[in-house]
Amino acid sequence: MRRVIFAASFSFAIACLFFWPDTYGPEPAAAQSRPQFSPGVRDFIKIDSASVALIHVRVIDGTGAAPRENQTVVFTDGKITAVGDFSNTPISGGAKVLDLTGYTVIPGFVGMHDHMYYPSPSGPPAMYPEHATSFPRLYLAGGVTSIRTTGSVEPYADLAIKKAIDEGRMAGPKMHITGPYLEGAGSFTPQMHELRDAEDARKTAEFWMDQGVTSFKAYMHITPDELAAAVKAAHARGIKVTGHLCSIGFREAAAIGIDDLEHGLVVDTEFFSGKKPGVCPNAQEADKEIAEKLDIESAPVQDMIRDLVAHHVAITSTLPVFETLVPNRAPLTKRVLDAMLPEARIAYLSTRSAISDNAANSFWPALFKKELQFERDFVKAGGLLLAGLDPTGYGGVVPGFGDQREVELLVEAGFTPLEAIHIATANGAQFLGELDRVGTLAAGKAADIVVIHGDPSANIADIEKVEIVFKDGIGYDSPKLIESVRGLVGLR
Ligand SMILES: [Zn+2]
Repeated sequence: MRRVIFAASFSFAIACLFFWPDTYGPEPAAAQSRPQFSPGVRDFIKIDSASVALIHVRVIDGTGAAPRENQTVVFTDGKITAVGDFSNTPISGGAKVLDLTGYTVIPGFVGMHDHMYYPSPSGPPAMYPEHATSFPRLYLAGGVTSIRTTGSVEPYADLAIKKAIDEGRMAGPKMHITGPYLEGAGSFTPQMHELRDAEDARKTAEFWMDQGVTSFKAYMHITPDELAAAVKAAHARGIKVTGHLCSIGFREAAAIGIDDLEHGLVVDTEFFSGKKPGVCPNAQEADKEIAEKLDIESAPVQDMIRDLVAHHVAITSTLPVFETLVPNRAPLTKRVLDAMLPEARIAYLSTRSAISDNAANSFWPALFKKELQFERDFVKAGGLLLAGLDPTGYGGVVPGFGDQREVELLVEAGFTPLEAIHIATANGAQFLGELDRVGTLAAGKAADIVVIHGDPSANIADIEKVEIVFKDGIGYDSPKLIESVRGLVGLR
C-alpha cells in the first residue's frame, strides 16, 4: 500500500509530497525511554515509528566530508543504526520507509548563540521578553535540534522550558542552559543583575550551577576580577564560560581563562586607540575605527588570532544580527515577517529603513566585511568557530530562519557549504562535549536529522527548505510548527 503522508493542507507546503513505499512488517513496540508526548506536542509529530529508514537520500554528514548520493539512513529508538549506500544497507523488519529522492539530510544544527528572548518593540527601557511559546518551536522547525542559550534574562524560565521539552510536554530543541548574564555596573537593561565584586561573581556562578545551568556568559561591563572569579568557580565544576566582552579585550580574556568569545572582532575593543583598561569604550567609536583603520592581515590581529587558538578559545559567529545593521542588506523574507507580531514587524522595518536612509554615513558595510574575513582567518589558523543567530539587535533575527541565514552568511565569508554546515553542527557539539551523541550523522548517534528539499551543497539557499526535523528519531512537521506561532515573535 502506498500512502501520502504529507497533508497538503498547509497553503505554503509546496512540493512536499512524500510517498511511503511498503511498510516492512509490523511496527516494533515503542521504546520505554521515549517521553510520553502531550497532545499539544503530538500535533506536530509527523513520524513516530520506533524504526525508520530514509532511502535514496543525499547525506551531508556534518564532518565536512563530500555529500554521498543514494544513501540509506536507518534509526531505531532514537538512535542511528546505519548510514550507507542504498544498494548494501539492510533495512530491518518493521521499519517505516521514506523515499527521499531529491532530498538531502544533514545533522540537526547546534545553535550556539540561540537565546530564548527577543527585543520588545517598545521602549525604553530596553526589554527582552522571554519567548517561551514561539522560540522553541521555531528553533526546532528550522532544523536546530540543540541550542545553547548563551545568556539568559529568565534563567528559571529557561530551565523549566528545557524540562518541559525533555519530558515531552513542549516541542523544542535540546537545551543547554546558560546562566544569567554576568554583567558589571552599567547594564543597559534592568533585566540584568549588576555584579558588585568578584565575590558576588563567584556566589552568583555557584548559585546558578546549583540550579542546573551548564554554562555562563560574561557581559560587556564585567571587570577582570569578576571574570576571573566566575571562570574559576565554573571551571572547578567543569562548566565553560563565554563572553560578549567590551571592558576586557580578547587576549586579556584568553589569559584569564575564558572558553569562548561571542560575535568576533566587531566587539573586540583591544585595538581601539581610546581603550582604557577595564573600561568599556563607546562601541560606535570603537567600531568605526575598526571599520576604517584596522587591517585584519596586520600582525596585531593575526597575533590575537594565534593567541586565541593557542588558548583553545572558540569564537561564536553571529552574522545574522550584524547583517541587520548593514544598510539595505538583510533579506526581507516573507516567512520571517509573517512570524512577527505586526507591531514588531513595523518596529523592525522602520529601523531597518532608517539605517538604509543613512547608508552614506554607515561604517557597517566595511565592518561586516572585516568580520567575515576575521572568521575565515580564525578557522584557517586552526580556531574552533561556532555558529548562532543572536535574535537581538533591533529585531528581525528570528529563530530557525536566522540559524539557516547564519549558514548562508558563512558561505558568503568564503567557507564551502560543507564547511559551513560542519561549523553549524559538529563544531557546536564538539564545544559542548556532545560530539559522541550529536553533531554528525553516524551509527550510534542520536537521530537528530534535518530533511531538506534540494541540495545545499550545490545551492546553499536550499538550507531554507526544511520539511521534517527528526529529534531523537521523532519526526516533527516543520511547516506546521511555523504556522502554529505565526505572528507571535515580538510578543511571546
Ligand atoms: Zn546575544
